[in-house]
Amino acid sequence: MIQVGINGYGTIGKRVADAVRAQDDMEVIGVAKTRPNFEAETAVKKGYPLYAAIEERAPLFEESGLELAGMVEELIDAADIIVDATPSGIGAQNKELYDEYETPALYQGGEDADLVDVSFNARGNFSEVEGADHVRVVSCNTTGLSRLAAPLEEEFGIEKMRVTLVRRGGDPGQTSRGPINDILPNPITLPSHHGPDVKTIFPDLSIDTLGMKVPATLMHTHSVNVSLESEPTADEVRDLLEQESRLFLIRENMNIDGAGKLKELAHDIGRPRGDLWENCIWRESISMEGNDLYLFQAIHQESDVVPENVDAIRAVLGTADAAESVAKTNEAMGMGI
Ligand code: NAD
Repeated sequence: MIQVGINGYGTIGKRVADAVRAQDDMEVIGVAKTRPNFEAETAVKKGYPLYAAIEERAPLFEESGLELAGMVEELIDAADIIVDATPSGIGAQNKELYDEYETPALYQGGEDADLVDVSFNARGNFSEVEGADHVRVVSCNTTGLSRLAAPLEEEFGIEKMRVTLVRRGGDPGQTSRGPINDILPNPITLPSHHGPDVKTIFPDLSIDTLGMKVPATLMHTHSVNVSLESEPTADEVRDLLEQESRLFLIRENMNIDGAGKLKELAHDIGRPRGDLWENCIWRESISMEGNDLYLFQAIHQESDVVPENVDAIRAVLGTADAAESVAKTNEAMGMGI
């Protein structure tokens, strides 16, 4: 059993903990938090041993009636691998600690690419991270773009990818980011960080990205144009994408017009927290004009990186190859709509 420690039990950390727990080859040996809150309480109720990330704040947990299993250093020492799901920039501060205990660490997309030995996406470069000490699971948007780029590049070749990302202003719980009533080019200059970030997975891919932020919390939406090296029909592209286990093609008769109904679907089919781990691509938006492919996809920012973290654990420790790991993760989580 792979012993997994999770440092940072917020939006991403709590989801990764549950996904790891669902696997039969790994277990969560503890989660670390900086302060007691509803998420810390839930962690304890779920039976995850709770560790304090900051020593001076440890008494706050006891005062809130939450029993601690120890300090984060003990968790890092005991773990085969740490998933760092702390806020952007904190992972970089924690790196030294992971080195001190010689525990390999996975970081999230909020950290800079140059913090780590290699960035990771299961569909893009699974085999490149084995044995690495510091690996970054790329952000939600980069994960969504990498999953789409991989089959298109393999099957048709990509001349150039152009993507406009309409980004949710904040997660549902991030009240500090709102309310807002605007549409912000973000950043105003090109490219947004997403294109260069996709190139950490596909160094040779030609990709330009623009970003906008809108007052929404549910999902990101990508408007995608890919100039292909060949001229498949739209149906051939649909057939190809349909075979990908982490791409969900929204069927025309589902009558889903946006993120609101997608999230409603997720709740209806019993997804934990209403999560949508797959890219959600509107099937009828897939169009070809000459060699130019167009489509719209929605990305659930809080959850598409979760299965990728599970795969990254096996990839770093070398316990499975890409196909085995992805199949195992998908099966255990209940992937596929
Ligand atoms: P979050 O704020 O929801 O959760 C972070 C958790 O870490 C919180 O519980 C916080 O209390 C805790 N924390 C803060 N400082 C800590 C420390 N020093 N040690 C241990 N824990 C600490 O953040 P999140 O949305 O889960 O983001 C985590 C990472 O995942 C970031 O790099 C982010 O960019 C990335 N990411 C976020 C999303 C998203 O949409 N939320 C999507 C993909 C990737």
